[in-house]
Amino acid sequence: MLEYEEFLKILDYWNSKKIIRHKPNMPGITPMLNMALKQYAIEQIKEAMDHYAIMFHDPTYLYCKYKWALPKFLFSNRFVAFLGNGSKWLNYCKFKKWQSHNPETIKPVELDLKTVNYYKYTGSEHWKQFRKAALEHYSYTCQMCGATNVKLDVHHKTYDTRGKETLEDVLVLCRPCHSKLHKDKGEYTSTAYRDLLTR
Ligand SMILES: [Zn+2]
Ligand SMILES: [Zn+2]
Repeated sequence: MLEYEEFLKILDYWNSKKIIRHKPNMPGITPMLNMALKQYAIEQIKEAMDHYAIMFHDPTYLYCKYKWALPKFLFSNRFVAFLGNGSKWLNYCKFKKWQSHNPETIKPVELDLKTVNYYKYTGSEHWKQFRKAALEHYSYTCQMCGATNVKLDVHHKTYDTRGKETLEDVLVLCRPCHSKLHKDKGEYTSTAYRDLLTR
């Protein structure tokens, strides 16, 4: 079990990352921390926090804009993806490496990506990275029917934000749901879809 003082130290550390700040009496933190500490050291959890904060606060990196509360960050070992050898952190490192060869992307991507034709757009490094991040974020699961282990598409709800999408602007859909959605287009009456939009 975590000593209370140790707990406060970790909480301070988390709060210093300026993602979401918590008061010590925020429920859910202690059990999640104790769970995480069964498998990981405090230093590792801090490392994951460091990485999450770097990615979250990097204005040129659009694939890590989700604001997780600390319990959510720790829940079911989510933070593990942010460790030095974790998938999210490695993706970010790859992105930074790619970015260092493409200095124009150090400014947040927009204009150009907004006007290129769609074919070029979907071939862009930006879209590839974003697409991957969206699939990962939704755990490779169709957001309408919950199917996994199927071919998935990332559908744009809007093109207004093309080139600087956030996760809210897209839906991860299996092929059948995706084509259904496009058939329904204009009506958007599907309850599942409406639910998604208001979620
Ligand atoms: Zn589906
Ligand atoms: Zn679509």
